[in-house]
Amino acid sequence: MPGAAPGLVLSSGPLKMAYVRGLIDYTLAKRAVLDSFRRGGLDRLDICDAHPELLRAAKNIGVAVPHPCPVCAKESLRQVRYVYGDQLKHLSGRPVYPENWELALSKQHDEFRCYTIEVCTECSWNHLTACCLMGRRYKPRQTPQTRARRGAKLS
Ligand SMILES: [Zn+2]
Repeated sequence: MPGAAPGLVLSSGPLKMAYVRGLIDYTLAKRAVLDSFRRGGLDRLDICDAHPELLRAAKNIGVAVPHPCPVCAKESLRQVRYVYGDQLKHLSGRPVYPENWELALSKQHDEFRCYTIEVCTECSWNHLTACCLMGRRYKPRQTPQTRARRGAKLS
């Protein structure tokens, strides 16, 4: 998917990406943590410390990640996304569920942040994978080509 970070699993769809801006990919930070762990600078308890709520979300609504856990090598890696923003009010801080819920939020709110966290349900490894801004503010304007194509479909 163009524009998506390498470690980021997002459900596909041009509409979803249409409301996204400022994607920050934390892959390098993740590599630094894992390198430090492998060199002995961090121990397993330092990096495998997922909060019980995060683990519960990963087990029940997490999206499977198509590669093994970088710590325990088991196929138990999930991604959970959370939305935060003042405009979301009581919804701020909730995990994204059902899938694509953030797209519905994008149509209702001008701006909020969406954080993607990688979690291993076996060893409790967890790390922030990506963060992006979403909302109506980031809906792309129609280009003349888009309008022309839509007009062509209607006729
Ligand atoms: Zn693991």
